Amino acid sequence: MLKYQQLKQSKPQSAILRCSSTGCNCRILEVKDFNSDLQSNDFPLTKITNAPKMPQTIELGNEEALSDESQGLFYSVDDMWSFDNIGVSKTTEKFEGTEEIKTEAGETIYFQRYLICADCDRGPIGFAGYLGDAKRSDDGSGLHYFIHPESVRYEIKR
Ligand SMILES: [Zn+2]
Repeated sequence: MLKYQQLKQSKPQSAILRCSSTGCNCRILEVKDFNSDLQSNDFPLTKITNAPKMPQTIELGNEEALSDESQGLFYSVDDMWSFDNIGVSKTTEKFEGTEEIKTEAGETIYFQRYLICADCDRGPIGFAGYLGDAKRSDDGSGLHYFIHPESVRYEIKR
């Protein structure tokens, strides 16, 4: 299992994103189309301004500083069914930030929930929100998902 910085050195074509919590290993998402810059057509790395802060590891009491280059970078996932497993925080756990969250392209993201591991409930590993004037619904359809690349671990498929 690799950290994001190690993944970048190994330049894989595909990887399985897994929970970083010790002993959990829950499968979150498979990325099958990395190019040499670790960009993915299916789940593009998106720069987000004023994004909620993410821990590099979700082990309690073992938070490492994030590297500057990945700060505010998230894999963008537009369909909940792309995930193998994903958990969400309760709607009451609102992001306390006061600044508007925006994509690099200038679209506003309306924060809804933190994303957590579906098995061990640890996190956050990302967040979900509505993009621009996307249609909102009580069942969560229409949500856009953002996974922080340093908050998960990577299994390389050979
Ligand atoms: Zn987990």
